[in-house]
Amino acid sequence: MFVVALTGGIGSGKSEAAKIFAELGIPITDVDAISHQLTSANQPLIPVLAANFGNQYITSDGTLNRTAMRDLVFSDQNALAKLNAILHPAIYDEAIKQLQQNIHAPYQILVIPLLFESPRYSPHISRILVIDCDEQIQVERVKKRSSLPESQIMQIIKTQTSRKQRLELADDVIENNGNVDELREKIILIHKKYINTCILSKTIS
Ligand code: ADP
Repeated sequence: MFVVALTGGIGSGKSEAAKIFAELGIPITDVDAISHQLTSANQPLIPVLAANFGNQYITSDGTLNRTAMRDLVFSDQNALAKLNAILHPAIYDEAIKQLQQNIHAPYQILVIPLLFESPRYSPHISRILVIDCDEQIQVERVKKRSSLPESQIMQIIKTQTSRKQRLELADDVIENNGNVDELREKIILIHKKYINTCILSKTIS
């Protein structure tokens, strides 16, 4: 199983990059998507979250109230630790299940924003691909995508692994300061490289 972990700061373009890999036929496992799925209506984690945080964190349609929870954990470290202890093992189990379902793909992508804060994934990862862009562009893209104020975006960036550290830990880096067509060209190049690496490693083994 050849797994490329795709990571980067908020708004760097991870989802956009993952979309392009998917268009190339590469299976995508996305931990944020799994987190959303596991906290939607009728999921077994919902009563666990209600018991730990109170019913006010569950919306009337039975999903996690993400805005209320985000506000809580932003200002309360204990609540954040408790939420992580509930969510992270479940997200991990589902992510590994999805990776194993795609074992016959030439390679696959694991989209994981907090890769460097999540060491439990390390044994499953073959290469680390960082999507990188300048901080100003990052902020502008997030502002355009969401209603978050700039101060909160800057706070999120500060809590994430620094850009410098991320670049040091990367095996591959795609710079995403240009437009989507430029991003696509870079992804097609790296896709060919990954395919060749997989063919080579399968030939040798
Ligand atoms: P992430 O998943 O890393 O948080 P996204 O992929 O959602 O970031 O990108 C943030 C926003 O910027 C999205 O609205 C996305 O469509 C846009 N975006 C990403 N890359 C580019 C690009 N190269 N040119 C223009 N817009 C982009």
